[in-house]
Amino acid sequence: MKILAADYILLMDRNFTVLENGGVVFDEKIIDYSDDVEDLKRVYQTAEVQYLGKNSVLLPGFINSHVHLEFSANKTTLNYGSFMTWLDSVMENRDELMSKCGDSCMELALANMLKSGVTSLGAISSFGKDMEACVKTPQKVVYFSELIGSSMASADALFADFKERVDNSMGKKGDSFFPAVAIHSPYSVHPIVLNKGLEVAKENTMPVSAHFMESPSERKWLDSGTGEFKAFFQKFLNTDTPVTDSKRYLDSFDGVNVLFTHCVNINDEELSKLASLGATVVHCPVSNRLLGVGKLDLEKLKNNEIPFVVGTDGLSSNTSLSILDEIRTALMVHTDLDLNLLAKDLLKGVTSIPARSLGLNCGEIKEGLDADLISFILPDVLSDNSTIASSIILHLKEAENIFINGEKIKWNF
Ligand SMILES: [Zn+2]
Repeated sequence: MKILAADYILLMDRNFTVLENGGVVFDEKIIDYSDDVEDLKRVYQTAEVQYLGKNSVLLPGFINSHVHLEFSANKTTLNYGSFMTWLDSVMENRDELMSKCGDSCMELALANMLKSGVTSLGAISSFGKDMEACVKTPQKVVYFSELIGSSMASADALFADFKERVDNSMGKKGDSFFPAVAIHSPYSVHPIVLNKGLEVAKENTMPVSAHFMESPSERKWLDSGTGEFKAFFQKFLNTDTPVTDSKRYLDSFDGVNVLFTHCVNINDEELSKLASLGATVVHCPVSNRLLGVGKLDLEKLKNNEIPFVVGTDGLSSNTSLSILDEIRTALMVHTDLDLNLLAKDLLKGVTSIPARSLGLNCGEIKEGLDADLISFILPDVLSDNSTIASSIILHLKEAENIFINGEKIKWNF
């Protein structure tokens, strides 16, 4: 049993409680916490006590809800600026990028996330090449095997490949590896295949991650079968009609625990549907900026009572997998929102909310939850404690201490 004492402890509960000069007691699970460390020492006399230092901050470990590890070799290969430019460069360079990213490349990506305090992640796997790294990593991984296939001619083969990857992941299921299902997008998955994929998720009570309304091109293609996607589908898939529309796509998710990624170009009707599905939106602001798709409307999500979480997306559309870099960007791009309120929402979007959406027993400092804890040192004393959330996002880069299931994680880079 251990007691960590810190100058500031963020419970990440609904009220955004901050304990000053408090402590957290844990073994594999969190046992107790208090703003009176001396009291904790009296009650838990055998516990080993560690003070985390002046200006220390203790939080539940961060959760990166959406990352594509298999694309981690990209630096300057893919082209940014617009979604179609980017997609064309993905089609051209995908095989080369895949072959350049072996186990060590993905292990480095995982380690860089860990460095920023990420103790759990949602990994979107296109090919299953990232499974070994995800099984081996100390972090908790919700492992989303992704289904793609818009053409009925190849649907059976693509579904069989997907099913094999899901089955392989289920063979590795454990305390920190949770198999799940990803649906690539409405334009790339035929409704018949989509329903088969969602059946797999329902049968096994798995969360589902699905891209939705990322680009204006996707909006136009699904609404009217026109725009830049038309030439793309003619060139690569020999078709010029969409396989579905957004209503049919969203209706398929009834009864599924689903996280929709991006939703930058979503309309009001779709937002109401997401709310009725109880869905979560995954916000990837750096990816959205690099691909020129626009900016997610966080106010509209709030008005529809749709929770949002944050993901880095992959290095195919980012330069960093640090979740702190990502929420710092989010803080900067939403210029219309109050800085300090947004900062609190962003911290919830990388702790308590994704834990609930992904079905993980962590994300808050609360009795009975897994002891996934991270600590940082702020550069100076806070003159106003109500700014702690924005100060964390603006100033912190690397975690000082990382505990997963109460185990101290040692890492060297
Ligand atoms: Zn993605």
